[in-house]
Amino acid sequence: MLPEISTLARLEQLDAQTHQLQLRLTELPKILTAEKKTVEAKKKAVEDLQAKLAANEKERRQLEGDIQLRQVKLKKLKSQLEQAASEAQVTAFEHEIKFNEGEISKSEDRELELMEEAEALEPKLKTDQAALVAAQRAGLEHFKAAEQEHKAGVAQIAKNAESAKALLAALDPRFVELYERLRRKYKTGPILCEAVEGNCGVCQMTLRLAFWQGVKAEPDKLWQCEECSRILIYNPSVMLA
Ligand SMILES: [Zn+2]
Repeated sequence: MLPEISTLARLEQLDAQTHQLQLRLTELPKILTAEKKTVEAKKKAVEDLQAKLAANEKERRQLEGDIQLRQVKLKKLKSQLEQAASEAQVTAFEHEIKFNEGEISKSEDRELELMEEAEALEPKLKTDQAALVAAQRAGLEHFKAAEQEHKAGVAQIAKNAESAKALLAALDPRFVELYERLRRKYKTGPILCEAVEGNCGVCQMTLRLAFWQGVKAEPDKLWQCEECSRILIYNPSVMLA
């Protein structure tokens, strides 16, 4: 194999790594934004539960106050009933006593309902709060890790660019031109590929028999796929070196 092709293979590795890093750097903010939204949704759920429990407690306190007032009123009505002077007064007091007892009973039923609701909500709030704290903590860690990864990625991309520059500077201009032409054509994909069993390893074009025999017979020559122009390598182990 031509030594220049080893250099092109190294350039290709650098390009591939840079491309992967660029993709990852584009993905990172999206991942963080999605995570932030999840944390915000958890926070909103906790706040909604807290608001529900607060409203529940407020209503219960109001009901307790109402019950107490009605009980005081009942006590008074009962003593008024004992002193009632006429049948009409008795009927009126009894009616009012019944009404207040009914209201107390309604309030007590509602209180019970609210207590049951609170009992169901409280453990859920605790679970949701714990999940929120964990999600916030994880989010912060992920944010810090992403910052590090971004920094390292940017540095690696710069390093790759420097390495590529050095490799290209030392490369025969004919190969530099070839590399640049192919890189323009295939911005992110491979420009070198293995010729396997008479086929181009990337575009899958079946090589002409004479051409394929030439590739095998003279692997030290520069061979380019007649279909896609990629540089063909007969012995791919060099690519992986
Ligand atoms: Zn091809």
